Amino acid sequence: MRVVIARMQHETNTFSPVPTPLAAFGTGNGKGPYYGADARRAMTGARVAMGAFLAQAEARGCDIDTPLAGMAYPSAPVEASAYTHMCDTICAAVARGCDAVLLDLHGAMVAENSPDGEGDLLERIRAIAPVIPLAVALDLHGNISRKIVDNADIIVGYKTYPHIDMYETGAHAGRLLFDMLDGKIEPVIGYAHARVLAQTLAMNTNLGAMKAALEGAKWRERDPGILACSVFGGFPQADTPDAGMSVVVVADAKRRGGATLARRTAEWGADFLWSRRAGFVFRQEPLAQSIGRARKAAHKAGGKPVILMDHGDNVMSGGTCDTIDVLRAALDAGFEGVVVGPTCDPQAVAQMAAAGVGAEVTVKLGNKTAMPRIGVPDPVPLELTGRVRVIGDGEYVVTGPIFTGDRLFMGRTAVLDTGRAQVVVTSQPQEPLDIGCFESVGIDVRAARFLLLKSRMYFRPVFEPMAAAVIPCAGPGVTSSDNRIFRFEHVRRPIYPLDARARRTPGASA
Ligand SMILES: [Zn+2]
Repeated sequence: MRVVIARMQHETNTFSPVPTPLAAFGTGNGKGPYYGADARRAMTGARVAMGAFLAQAEARGCDIDTPLAGMAYPSAPVEASAYTHMCDTICAAVARGCDAVLLDLHGAMVAENSPDGEGDLLERIRAIAPVIPLAVALDLHGNISRKIVDNADIIVGYKTYPHIDMYETGAHAGRLLFDMLDGKIEPVIGYAHARVLAQTLAMNTNLGAMKAALEGAKWRERDPGILACSVFGGFPQADTPDAGMSVVVVADAKRRGGATLARRTAEWGADFLWSRRAGFVFRQEPLAQSIGRARKAAHKAGGKPVILMDHGDNVMSGGTCDTIDVLRAALDAGFEGVVVGPTCDPQAVAQMAAAGVGAEVTVKLGNKTAMPRIGVPDPVPLELTGRVRVIGDGEYVVTGPIFTGDRLFMGRTAVLDTGRAQVVVTSQPQEPLDIGCFESVGIDVRAARFLLLKSRMYFRPVFEPMAAAVIPCAGPGVTSSDNRIFRFEHVRRPIYPLDARARRTPGASA
């Protein structure tokens, strides 16, 4: 049996100014996607969906074709040539002839030449191979379209955010695909859009409405007729017609009423999301108020750092990693003992490297990337004077607990010490998802009074346990939770919370 297994992942922030060329699909190594045998080697044992697909196909002795494995960190729409090239590569493998296709995709990919990156790829594959079984694993942040649903046999989404079940999701989708090939099941998909544009900060699956929604999905999966029930939070900064929350249910049409069960369960799920819609909106306070709360928290911190969570500039959602407004506000408020996580400014790094370790420098830091799509064409950098403490290559191996063992690259990195603040200045964007981004440049974050992190979710497993408090700070940026700064042009209206007249009509999306 011959199977095609591929990975093409990108969460697109259509408001982001960070470009997405083919080279970005090398998961930060700058070399682009893996192909053929290299793709198979790179993904074998990886704790992502494609790793699970490979393990299952190998266990069954399949002839495996791995045309492509590419993942880019969130950024602007994928360059047209890159998108077309990656789809061509996957489609060519399918056209060579196969018995099944297993894809590790995101669900919120937008390309310059495709508003629905996954839907258009699946439609092309279906045109080449109309009846072969096709299974897709998707990210919880997928904006699911009718085109995606209509061109796949099996769809399973992650059930966790932060995502810690990527491999398990792949294993689930793969198991269903092989059951289908064995004639044990006949998958049928139900789909319903909730008409809710949820915010990422309200999608933590350990809390509140999202936790309840995922528990409901897992409970529905105990029904023997339901093969998979996936709740998608969607990605609000991908401004596409289908952006928002949805539910996708795979049921077994071999059982009587399978198609009805799939459709009704999806509707039931979307009704639930609509009923809890207020719980999917993050209500933010003005930055000055957050800084005031952080000051109070520091008084009773007992020597532990207070985290200033700069969620408007979240790298793993398409942020520029260079907004400087939260640091400016903290310094204006007189804060001392501030440690600042990766702030991307290659110009400042070059200036500090030229000056050398120990030199005193005055740099204009951050705010160098224009964000025209959110009305910030000309941000103003922060002038800081301090000593260059460290110059390094910015490489380290993650100690975990998430992404353990991955080697990460911040590019050439410098530490600027102003006396009141120590700033990790990098040449490449990076979310602080591991303590290595500080330890690799000799900073002990436990000694900080305030710890400024550009992140919303991935810092939590590492930094939350060592902190006295986490204070969300609404700095500006393309990952803001303030819908007013985004000019939504494509998302289908009305939708909650953008429109007061938004309604969910049961059955409308089925
Ligand atoms: Zn995600």
